[in-house]
Formats: sequence, structure tokens, C-alpha cells
Amino acid sequence: MFYTQLQAARQGLITPQMKVVAEKEQMSVEALRELVAKGHVVIPCNKNHTSINPEGIGKALRTKINVNLGTSKDCMDYQVEMEKVNQAIAWGAESIMDLSTHGDTAIFRRMLGKECTTMVGTVPIYDSVIHHQKDLAFLTHEDFLSTIRLHAEDGVDFITIHCGITRKTIQQIKEVGRKLNIVSRGGSLVFAWMSMTGKENPFYEYFDDILDICAEYDVTISLGDACRPGCLADATDICQIEELIRLGELVRRARQRGVQVMIEGPGHVPLNQIQANMEIEQTLCEGAPFYVLGPLVTDIAPGYDHITAAIGGAVAGMHGASFLCYVTPAEHLALPNVDDVKEGIMAFKIAAHAADIAKGIPRARDRDDRMAEARQRLDWEAQYSCAMDPEKARAIRESRAPGSEHSETCSMCGKFCAVRSINKALAEDYIDII
Ligand code: SF4
Repeated sequence: MFYTQLQAARQGLITPQMKVVAEKEQMSVEALRELVAKGHVVIPCNKNHTSINPEGIGKALRTKINVNLGTSKDCMDYQVEMEKVNQAIAWGAESIMDLSTHGDTAIFRRMLGKECTTMVGTVPIYDSVIHHQKDLAFLTHEDFLSTIRLHAEDGVDFITIHCGITRKTIQQIKEVGRKLNIVSRGGSLVFAWMSMTGKENPFYEYFDDILDICAEYDVTISLGDACRPGCLADATDICQIEELIRLGELVRRARQRGVQVMIEGPGHVPLNQIQANMEIEQTLCEGAPFYVLGPLVTDIAPGYDHITAAIGGAVAGMHGASFLCYVTPAEHLALPNVDDVKEGIMAFKIAAHAADIAKGIPRARDRDDRMAEARQRLDWEAQYSCAMDPEKARAIRESRAPGSEHSETCSMCGKFCAVRSINKALAEDYIDII
């Protein structure tokens, strides 16, 4: 008999995946099992994803980051995209979302299922159009469900589905007068499908059928937030919160069916509203792990949105978000290139790490403490080994090396190096500056 991680945890069973995650998180496997049983931690791990090295997402665990990649009209080379995946994993991504929107999407998805060691997520509504080669209005609920099944069979670990908006949302969006209406790509497609067909959201109406597919393969559902705010002015409004209430109801139904579930969140949120957003989600969705995009804390920094989003991500993580979707400098501007991907990943590794220290994740600060000790000794090799990006740290120092008469310092202060002066003073050595 096949059990999802959630079903196994409820039965008191320890799965191999739980053992791996507990070891990575340096916690007891029994404590982890209890968190999985409550739905406070998910271990997205499709039974057909043979290459995965599992990770957990949720309460008391390290904050994880996701990287969005995939083929598009402007980048159709599967091998190039696979190289980006491997590079992203080397830089620290714990999850890859395949957002392919062009070509034979099955080829790349199956490559991920066989080769990708991280969690893999998809948004099946994008692929419904491509796979069935039909324009949106001609897709049926059977088409959407068959795409979900296809992704489940191909080993996708989590799927984003936008079940939280209904026909009522169409009127609501018209009346509320948001500045940016709906900015979620999947959410906009569901909204458009409902508008064009006059029918109810198929992902909401046939949610029980989706649960059956997800239970069969242990696909975790990531309940997408179609109404996530796309600008500060739309943050925490009635559209966002009403959808979140519905997502909370769906969390209960998914858990009853034994399907692991997490919630997706904003978006663009002023810094002073982030804590409230995290707490509302935890309450309405009964502790389901929160997966946030950013959030971006200002709307006016295109080209630097990896920074605006990492600031929000760190604060969101500190207040309970478990999973951060990276944002690159190309956000709102273009498809990210490899350099953008690296900048986005590094920004979010920093945000996630800062959040983990603030959350009090055991041993999260160990590396920072080793770095402080290496700095005190002016031990540059040890500093590089503690650095998140050792290559960049080394390249900067070596490209602007200090003069030979003060080579133990760096060229920032030279012989005025505070660390050198204090070390010498405490050792009662003579401090030469001139
Ligand atoms: S020279 Fe200045 S910046 Fe460089 S290690 Fe010394 S105190 Fe730090």
C-alpha cells in the first residue's frame, strides 16, 4: 500500500525521506514526523522522482528557496536550460519550478524527473495550453485534470494550482478597483477562462479529483494566490484576504485526503505589513507552510528587484514564511539570463539565512561565528571558506590587493586596519602606521 508522507506520518511511520530530512535539519526524526503529521511541514517528493534528494519545508526547518526556470519562446534549448538548473543547484537552490511555456514541455520535465536532485514544481495550467494545443477558452476541465495527471506521472513534486478564486472574484476585481488587478500568471489564466466560458473555476470545482491524483503520486499541492498583490497599493486588500480564507478551507480538505499542502503568498507588500500577512496565513491556513514570492517592499526599483524582494523575504522568513521564491534583477523587465539567476539566488540565500538566524534555527549562526573568528585572525582563506560566494569574495580582494607592506589586511584601510591595530594593541606590540 502506498502512503503519502502525510499519511505515513499520521500512521506513525518513518519514511526514508523523513530520515534524510531530519538528518539535514539536525533534528530528531520523531519530531519531524509529528510536524509532517500536523501538516506544519511538507516533504514534496513524488514517488516517480527518482533522482531527488528530499527536503522539508515548514515550521522549525531551515528556510528554503525556489528558482524558476524553463523553456520559453526566446530560449528553446533543453540542454542550456538543464545547465541553468545544475548551476542553480550548485549556487544553492533547493527547488526548481519548471515554468516552461514553449516547445515540447514534456521533454524538459522528464529530464528534471530523471536528473534533478532538488524538488521540482510546475504550474499545470501553463502546460495545459501547450500540451493540448488549444487556446484557453477551448480547454475543458478534463484537459486541466489530464495535464495534472501527466505532471504527476512525470515525477513533479509540487504543483501550483489556483483554486482560491471563484466566479465571485470576477465581480470583486471589477468593483474593488485594484491598481494592478491580477498579476499572477496562472491566476490570470483561470480568471480569463472563467470569464470566457462562464463556468466556475475548474480547479476549485474539481478539487477532489485533483486530490485523488496528488494522493496517488504524493504530489504536494501549492495553493496559488491568484490575487497576490502586484503593487504596494493592492497589498492586504479584500481580494487577497478573501482568497486566503478559501485557501484555508482547501488546506483542510487536502489534509483530510492525505495530500500535503502549502500556501503561496505575496507579492508586493509594504515592510510594515509583512508580519501581519505571515500571521494571518498561519491562522487561516492552520500552520500550512507559507511559500512567498519576495515579497517586494517597494515598486520603484526595476533592475534591483532581487534586493527589494530579498528584504521582504528576510522579514517574511523571520515571521514564519518557510519557502522563498527567488526574484532576479530582471523581474518586471525580461527573461533572466544566467547572471541574473545567480544574483537572484545569492540575494535569496542571504535572505533565507538571515531569517533562519532570526527564527533561532539551531546552529544557523555557526558559519557566521566562524567567519567572525576568521576575520579576527585576518585569515583570508578561512574567510573565503565561510563565504556564501567564495569565488566572488576572493576575486574582489585579489583584484584590489593591498600593498606588500600591509598584505595581511585589505586595501579598504591598509595600515589603518582596525583588526590589525587591536590585535597588536592587545598583544602589546608596536603599531606601525607610517
Ligand atoms: S583593512 Fe579595514 S576592512 Fe580590511 S580587514 Fe582591516 S578593518 Fe577590515
